[in-house]
Amino acid sequence: HLPTAELQALDAAHHMHPFTHGAALAEKGARIITSASGVWLQDSDGARILDAMAGLWCVNLGYGREELVEAAARQMRQLPFYNTFFQTSHVPAILLAKKLAELAPGDLNHVFFNGSGSDSNDTNLRLVRHYWELRGKPEKFNVISRWNGYHGSTMGGGSLGGMKGIHAQGGLPIPGIHHIDQPDWWSEGGDMSPEEFGLSRARQLEEKILELGPDTVAAFIAEPVQGAGGVIVAPETYWPEIQRIVKEYGILLILDEVITGFGRTGRWFGAETLGITPDIMTVAKGITSGYIPLGASLVSDRIAQVIDEGDEFAHGYTYSGHPVACAVALENIRLLEEEGIIARAGSEIAPYLKEKWESLADHPLVGEAKIVGLMGSIALTPDKASRAKFKGDAGTVGYICRERCFANNLVMRHVGDRMVISPPLVITKEEIDELIARARLSLDETLERIEA
Ligand code: PLP
Repeated sequence: HLPTAELQALDAAHHMHPFTHGAALAEKGARIITSASGVWLQDSDGARILDAMAGLWCVNLGYGREELVEAAARQMRQLPFYNTFFQTSHVPAILLAKKLAELAPGDLNHVFFNGSGSDSNDTNLRLVRHYWELRGKPEKFNVISRWNGYHGSTMGGGSLGGMKGIHAQGGLPIPGIHHIDQPDWWSEGGDMSPEEFGLSRARQLEEKILELGPDTVAAFIAEPVQGAGGVIVAPETYWPEIQRIVKEYGILLILDEVITGFGRTGRWFGAETLGITPDIMTVAKGITSGYIPLGASLVSDRIAQVIDEGDEFAHGYTYSGHPVACAVALENIRLLEEEGIIARAGSEIAPYLKEKWESLADHPLVGEAKIVGLMGSIALTPDKASRAKFKGDAGTVGYICRERCFANNLVMRHVGDRMVISPPLVITKEEIDELIARARLSLDETLERIEA
């Protein structure tokens, strides 16, 4: 391929990147990834980089699995495309829908296919509003979600999410979306115990429902563990109280499992790990281990029945149930299941990673260290005891730490001044040791730089 500098110049000149500052890209150039295997990336200069983010929280199976390549090639030869509109279907979509219904918790026996996590949440928004229209309650239009949650960046997904940076651009949120605070005890818990704080944050949902009027609220949407918001793990009191509230007020619960699905929390879905019973579940990312785009809305018997009995649901995407994506998802799920990857991630890898990850809490820069399964975060702080924030702009120290990780050939992401990880589920114990060693070195170097 072309030399790195030339690729970088072309990239900056012609390629508009998502969530990237254009001027910074032009100045510094992107790191260009050329190949990958297992948990290791290789860049255009030949460096080997440990990917502790599984791409964007998605390459659960690890890189380089030929079986997925073969599954895609086989399907492309046989039927590269057909749609699922107007009473047509095809084998990969049928088999994948059946498999997802088997794996999903509760009675989520019905699958609407989408192209990504964002457009899956757009589907969910239309599904829940249409459900209530069909039930004769069109005034149930409002959907409640959480500040700092992430549900994608389409008009619907970006509105449902609570990222203020997204809302600031392009007139979001769209009407009928309301937000409550996140259950982030470390940053916002003040003097409360985590348990008290969890209850008080859950009760904000009840307050919001009462403020809007219970008859106007269609659904509440949340991630089991907030991912892009910084791997925020709610106190144990939070989810039981949320479940009580949605039940009491007859409000649908949409669980966004785009990150937490397919083994990330040590079980198939975060709903199982945290004991949550949703009416609709969003999945994407890990459904194909990121090898090809696919998203899906998993829908309960009750909702699907009402939708099916109504007029045609006027919604869908050209690539809803794309046969190649469905074939890759089926193969990905087969490997996760038959090779015992999720079982091993939950029983062996997650406890080992937890011990090592939490050991970082003895570093002078690290306050809280949290982890659920294979998704973790550390909060960086100038003073652990008071849970203080750094002076100046939030995220400045996190950015330095991310850069130090990158220089040490480790991909960790920063969310403000939190560092997060989400490695492929196939990571070995030796690779975890390497990850922790590189993280510790990067933390030391960050400390040196902020003290200088
Ligand atoms: N929902 C959650 C919880 C996510 O983490 C993401 C992406 O990170 C999305 C939705 C959006 O998915 P996509 O980027 O595939 O549109």
